Amino acid sequence: METERPETGAEFPEETARPEGTPDTAGLSPAEEESPKKNTARDPDRRPHKKRPNGKKRRRDARRKAADRTMAAVNAVLLLLTGIALALCGWAGYRYVSFSPETYDSRVAELTAETDRVREDIRALEESLEEENERLRSDLALSGEEGKRAAEELSAAKAENETLLEENAALKERAEFLSDIRNNTTALREEYAGKIRRLEDKIVAGESDVKICYWSFDDGPGLMTSAILDFCEENGVYVTFFASREANETGQGDVDEPALLRRETMLGNSVQNHTNSHQYSRIAGNLYTQGIDSFREQVRLQDEWILENTGFKPDIFRFPGGSAWAYNLIPKEELLGALDALGYKHVDWACDVMDNLHSNPDAGIVYTRATWQIKQIDPPIAIILSHDWNINTYYGFMRAVPAIRDMGYIFLPLFSQSWAIDNTVIRFS
Ligand SMILES: [Zn+2]
Repeated sequence: METERPETGAEFPEETARPEGTPDTAGLSPAEEESPKKNTARDPDRRPHKKRPNGKKRRRDARRKAADRTMAAVNAVLLLLTGIALALCGWAGYRYVSFSPETYDSRVAELTAETDRVREDIRALEESLEEENERLRSDLALSGEEGKRAAEELSAAKAENETLLEENAALKERAEFLSDIRNNTTALREEYAGKIRRLEDKIVAGESDVKICYWSFDDGPGLMTSAILDFCEENGVYVTFFASREANETGQGDVDEPALLRRETMLGNSVQNHTNSHQYSRIAGNLYTQGIDSFREQVRLQDEWILENTGFKPDIFRFPGGSAWAYNLIPKEELLGALDALGYKHVDWACDVMDNLHSNPDAGIVYTRATWQIKQIDPPIAIILSHDWNINTYYGFMRAVPAIRDMGYIFLPLFSQSWAIDNTVIRFS
C-alpha cells in the first residue's frame, strides 16, 4: 500500500523546474539515493520507507508514456504532411499528364504565330517611325529654305513699304499743294467770271462803251488749236472751246488733245462741253435719235474727259447741230432737264462764219462773215461760232480779231455766269 509522502523543500516534483544550485537527484543510483548517511545529512527527519522503489517506477512509466504520446503526435503530423505532399505531387502529375502532346504542339504553334505577329508589328512600327523621321527631316530642311526666302521677301517688302510710305507722303503733300492751287484757281475763276458778269450788266445797261466778243471754236481740240492758242496768247485774246473728243477725228490730225485741253485752260480760255461723239446726223449712232439716255451719256462722258484733263468741270453745253436741231429729235424739256441734272446751261451762237466741211470757205470769207455779221447786228455782247480744225478759219480769225477790236469789242472767255448764256439767239446760221 502506497502513501503520499509529505512535500518537503528537499524534494521537487518531476515536472516542476528545479531551482538553480540544487542537486539533481534524477541521475543518482538507487544505492546512492538510499544511503542513510546522505539522506540524513540533507533531511534528518526522513526515515527509510519500504514503498519507495514503486513510486519512482511509476514516475518513470508516466514520463515514458508522455514521451510516447509526444512521439505519436509527431508521427501523426509527419504522416499528415507526407499525405499532403503526396496529394500535391499527384495533382501536379495529373496536370502534367493531362497536357497532351497535341495540345502542347497547338499551343506552341499559337505562341509562335503570336511571336511572328509581334515581330511584324514591331517591324511596321520601325518603318513608320523611319518614314516619319524622314518626313520631319525633309520638312525641317524645306522650312529652313522657305523661312530664309520668306525673311528675304519680308525684308524687301519692308523696304518697299518704307519707300512707298515716303512716296505716299510726298504725293499727299503734292496733292494738297495741287488741291490748294485748284481751289484757289477755281475761286479766282469764279471771281473773274463775276467781274465779267458785272461788266456785261454795265454794257447791257448802257453804262459802258466796251463791247464783248465771245469767239468760240467747236469740235476740237483739232489741227489748228495749237496755232490759234499761240495767236491768242500773243494778242491777249481769250476764246471759248466747245470740245468734243470724237468729233471730226479724220480732220483733227495727230494732236495731243488732252495736252491742248490743258493749254486752252492754262491760257485763261473757257473749255466747255460739246458731247463725246458729236454724232448728230440722221444715221445709226445718232446721239439724239437713240433717246435721252444716250444723249445724257454723251454729255457725261465728255464732262469727265474735260474735268480729268483740265481740273475744271465744264458747265456750258452746246448742242451738236444747234439746239433747234436737237429739239426736233428729243423733247426740249427732256434735253434741258438732263443738262440741268448734269450741272449745265446751254448756249447756241449769234454769228456763224460757216466754216464747216460742206462750204469750207477760204480765210477771206471767214474774215468777212465774222466782221460783216457783227456790223449788221451790232450786238453789245456777241457769240461767234467757228471750228478749230479748219486752217482757213485760223487765218480768217487772225484777220478778224483786230477788225472786231476796232469796232470796240474785247475778246473774253465765256462762263456760265455770263449774261450771253440766256440772251443769245441765232442770227446767222
Ligand atoms: Zn460741232
